[in-house]
Amino acid sequence: MSQRPIYLDCQATTPVDERVLAAMLPFFTEHFGNPSSISHVYGWEAEAAVKQTREILAAAINATPEEIVFTSGATEANNLAIKGVAEAYFQKGQHIITVATEHSAVLDPCKYLKTLGFEITFLSVQKDGLIDLTELEKAFRPETILVSVMAANNEIGVLQPLAEIGAMCRERNVLFHTDAAQAIGKIPLDVQALKIDLMSLTAHKVYGAKGIGALYVRRRNPRVQLAPQQHGGGHERGMRSGTLYTPQIVGFGKAVEIALQEQVAETERLTQLRQRLWEQLSQVEGIHLNGHPTQRLPGNLNISVEGVDGSALLLGLQPVMAVSSGSACSSATTAPSHVLTALGHTEQLAYASIRFGIGRFNTAEEIDKVAQHTIATIQSLRKQDSFAMGNR
Ligand SMILES: *Cc1c(COP(=O)(O)O)cnc(C)c1O
Repeated sequence: MSQRPIYLDCQATTPVDERVLAAMLPFFTEHFGNPSSISHVYGWEAEAAVKQTREILAAAINATPEEIVFTSGATEANNLAIKGVAEAYFQKGQHIITVATEHSAVLDPCKYLKTLGFEITFLSVQKDGLIDLTELEKAFRPETILVSVMAANNEIGVLQPLAEIGAMCRERNVLFHTDAAQAIGKIPLDVQALKIDLMSLTAHKVYGAKGIGALYVRRRNPRVQLAPQQHGGGHERGMRSGTLYTPQIVGFGKAVEIALQEQVAETERLTQLRQRLWEQLSQVEGIHLNGHPTQRLPGNLNISVEGVDGSALLLGLQPVMAVSSGSACSSATTAPSHVLTALGHTEQLAYASIRFGIGRFNTAEEIDKVAQHTIATIQSLRKQDSFAMGNR
């Protein structure tokens, strides 16, 4: 039995789709030119391929190709957006609003800015993981320069009300950044309709390769000023220097193109698989759904389990499925997830949590197997526990 566990961790990363890999391969060997080389065909063909991805990404979010800045991923895009705006606008104001449940790639740049004298408001979330818009409204100050709220949460999958947030920011002349690492290709995104000024993207959550992402930077109404965080050859209109990673960029374009083509059908299929999993798990007493029941990523299910130890649960699941737990999320630490804690959970429930990230290559058969094994593991752990406590 050397069968590997069923992969259900698509909020951590996804495999590269074969079609994406096929598009990338010629750009490692045959079309290896530097897109900045303007004097020969090697450079021109690489530049043409990069331009094509710019166009695909821009079309995907209703932006223009000139508004796409390639980065090494969403972590870098978030850093560039937040620190870049802070540095460019500090004379206008030094207050930033974000949310307690953001990814650490948003929280940590904000905390860093705090050490430089910026003031940061970390909004709380409601029981369902969504922000309270009246709390946001009250948080605005005359010196607020930026609001950063993610599109889709990487742990509990909830989709924040971007249109409402965008409208509130625009009304007050405050820039709006959203981390859309989990959202691109999965839910419709329109920077005009949603009034988004900066948006972070990444390829590896949508069946592209790791190590490539992008930042959308609005050029008109308003034109966003951004202080570069990496200086050098002046690539990406000076906002992000460094030779462009052509194969990864080509794959990013292909990945988003495929995701958009399949979005409607895949949303329905993944929603059904998620419901199939939840219908089985919710038969068991003491299993709680984390995050809003419907306003969430189609492939994300996150649960907390009463009466079991979190690490024992994860250990019991490991042979059958590759999932992640709220407490193991930022692998180096064993503290309970800041997202689940923000939902108001007790420490036990925050620890005993499982994130199921269902993706393109999962089947109904796998979901049933996962559901059965999860239930069996929970029941066996509870039984052991009640024996340990003297069979109460
Ligand atoms: C994965 C993820 C990131 C980090 O993206 P990288 O491309 O791996 O740097 C940032 N934010 C969210 C919400 C994510 O899910």
